[in-house]
Amino acid sequence: MKNPSKFVLYIMIFILIIFVLPAICTKRMKKTKAKENEQNINKQIDNVKEKIKHDYSQYGTIKLLHKESGQIEELSIDKYLYGVVSAEMPANYEDEALKAQAVAARTYTIYQISNNKGKHGDADICDESTCCQAWISKEERMKSWSEEEREKNWNKIVSAVNSTAGQIITYKNDAINAFFHSNSGGKTELASNVWIGGKDFPYLQSVETAGEDNYSQYSSDVTILKTDLIDKLRKEYPDIQINFEENESIKILEYTKSGRVKTVKFGNTEIAGTKIRSIVGLKSTNFSIKIEGENVIFSVIGYGHGVGMSQTGADSMAKSGSNYEEILKHFYTGVEISTI
Ligand SMILES: [Zn+2]
Repeated sequence: MKNPSKFVLYIMIFILIIFVLPAICTKRMKKTKAKENEQNINKQIDNVKEKIKHDYSQYGTIKLLHKESGQIEELSIDKYLYGVVSAEMPANYEDEALKAQAVAARTYTIYQISNNKGKHGDADICDESTCCQAWISKEERMKSWSEEEREKNWNKIVSAVNSTAGQIITYKNDAINAFFHSNSGGKTELASNVWIGGKDFPYLQSVETAGEDNYSQYSSDVTILKTDLIDKLRKEYPDIQINFEENESIKILEYTKSGRVKTVKFGNTEIAGTKIRSIVGLKSTNFSIKIEGENVIFSVIGYGHGVGMSQTGADSMAKSGSNYEEILKHFYTGVEISTI
């Protein structure tokens, strides 16, 4: 051997290739495998956690508070939802709109139970539309339908609930606060503009919907005598003074981004649009004001608070070919429809 040191080097390289490298590789592979295993286990734990979080079997029975009588009725969630869908949406609306309503109402119910426990004592939810969501018994609903449409209407409601059984709207795996209303006037509203101190939710953005002007809920007027208006306002604002001789005695000062009235000046007092809505009994806060002779006329667009899904908007979308999932994803931004 001309160069023994080179020979030693070759031997060492040989040993390295045959024994050491495979050992290192195996160790690395073992490490990778262990990491993979760990990741798999974590994934499984997450899945189990998710399943526990979404174990809505606990909501099989709803304790419904009848606001008028103060009685609490226990009924299955589906039976409860038949009563909500039939109270909240006209049965002659499109099937896909009724399905969207069923999923929104189911989601709203679960959100209330999960997040607002204790609001109604032992009950989960009440039957008042201004507090929770409206509910009507089958017997009462049937009475309001003509005899020939009763069965068909009821079957439509039942089918909307049953065909979407177990489906709720989720955002980042949680049930959303699925607000809905009658008619948005073409554009929905942010929650923070409706409820004072109300927080906004990422899935409740202001969205536009075509075709809402085709519904009777779209526009309405309220005419009130100047003297009656002052009487009504004085109950809440005892120091209010309006001199109708003055220019701009009543003036809208500010609008929300969606075009609803945020603040109005009545004489010497500034009042929130939401407050005027409840004092005067307007269908929404999207209004203009006109003074004519002894009257004050409020011309109103839309019906309801304007947050979340518009029911006439849902029906309008269904008429244009959208299915219930598309309708829900239009009104609630970035959400998924999950089966529980
Ligand atoms: Zn309630």
